[in-house]
Amino acid sequence: MFREVVLGLGSNPVVEGVIKRYGMQLGASRFVAGRTLPEAIEEVRAINQRGIKATLDHLGESVTSERAAMEAKESYLAMLDAIGQSGVDCNVSLKLTMLGLALDEGLAARHLLDIVEKAAQMHNFVRIDMEDSPYTTKTLTLFEKAYQQYPDAVGVVLQAYLYRTMDDLKRLSQPPKNFRIVKGAYMEPVSVAFPAKADVDENYLRLVTTSLELGNYTAVATHDEQMIGRVLKYVHEAAVPRDRFEFQMLYGVRFSLLESLARQGYRTRVYVPYGEDWYPYYIRRIAERPQNLLFFMKTLMER
Ligand SMILES: Cc1cc2nc3c(=O)[nH]c(=O)nc-3n(C[C@H](O)[C@H](O)[C@H](O)COP(=O)(O)OP(=O)(O)OC[C@H]3O[C@@H](n4cnc5c(N)ncnc54)[C@H](O)[C@@H]3O)c2cc1C
Repeated sequence: MFREVVLGLGSNPVVEGVIKRYGMQLGASRFVAGRTLPEAIEEVRAINQRGIKATLDHLGESVTSERAAMEAKESYLAMLDAIGQSGVDCNVSLKLTMLGLALDEGLAARHLLDIVEKAAQMHNFVRIDMEDSPYTTKTLTLFEKAYQQYPDAVGVVLQAYLYRTMDDLKRLSQPPKNFRIVKGAYMEPVSVAFPAKADVDENYLRLVTTSLELGNYTAVATHDEQMIGRVLKYVHEAAVPRDRFEFQMLYGVRFSLLESLARQGYRTRVYVPYGEDWYPYYIRRIAERPQNLLFFMKTLMER
C-alpha cells in the first residue's frame, strides 16, 4: 500500500517539483554516486578497494526524442571507455527506454547492439535492467537478439513480482544465460503481478534456485537478509560453485551486509547510478522503505 501511494504521488508534477528542488541535498545523494562519470568512477574505485565489484548506471529513462536516445548511447560508449581506461572492476547496466524503446523498438535495438558490441570487444558486460510490464516482452526480445550475437557480453533482469517470470526464466534458459533476479520496483496491476509481498518473496527464492538448477549465472539482487540466508543455505546444500552466482545491492543500501558477504568469499557487486536524471530512481527507492520518506520529510522540515 505504502509503495503504491509513493509511486503514484511520484508522478504528481507538484511533488516532483518539490523533490527535484530539494531531493539531492535531502537524501537522494545517498542513493546516487555523483552527477558526472568521473565522480562515479572514483566511487567505483573506492568500492573495488573493499573487495566489491560494481555496475554503473547512467540515470535516465523514457527519452522522448531520437536525439536523447543517441546521447544516451554515446554516454554508455563513453562509460565503457572510462571503465577500460581507469581499470576499475565494473560492468554497465542500462534501461532500454533510455535508448528509445518507447519511441521505436528498432532504434533501441540498434543502440543496444552498438553498446553490447563495444562491451564484447572490451571483454566487458552489459546488464539490461527490467522496467515496467508494458516493456517486459520487448526487453526480453531485444535481450535475445543481442545474446544471439554476443552471448558472453549481455544479460537481463527478471522480476519476481510478475506471474510470467518463471515461464520466461525456463524458456530463456535454453541454453543457460546470465540473469539478475530482483523482486521488482514498479507499480504493477494485480492482473500481472503478485499483490502480496509474501508471494513475491516465495517466488523470488523459487526463481533463484530454479535459475541456478538450470545452469544460469545468477545475480541475486536483494537487500533482504532473510532471503540471502535462504539462498546461502540452498547453494551450500546443492554445492553450487561460487563462480556461478553473485550478490548485488544498490548503492547506499546495506553496504555492510554486502561487505560481509565479500569477506566470506562470495562474489559481490554494487549497482552505482550517477547523473542528473535521478528523480524516478529516487522515488522507487523511497517507495521501497517508509523510513526513506520519513528521512526526507524530517530533513525538509528542519530547513
Ligand atoms: C542490484 C539491483 C538491481 C536492481 N535492478 C532492478 C531492475 O532492473 N528492475 C526492477 O524492477 N528492480 C530492480 N531492483 C530493485 C528491486 O526490484 C527491489 O525493488 C529492491 O531491491 C527492494 O527489494 P529487496 O529485494 O531489497 O527486498 P525488500 O523486501 O523490499 O527489502 C528487504 C530489506 O532491505 C532493505 N531495503 C530495501 N530497499 C531499501 C531501500 N530503498 N532503502 C533502504 N533499505 C532498503 C530494508 O531493510 C528492507 O527491509 C534492483 C535491485 C538491486 C539490488
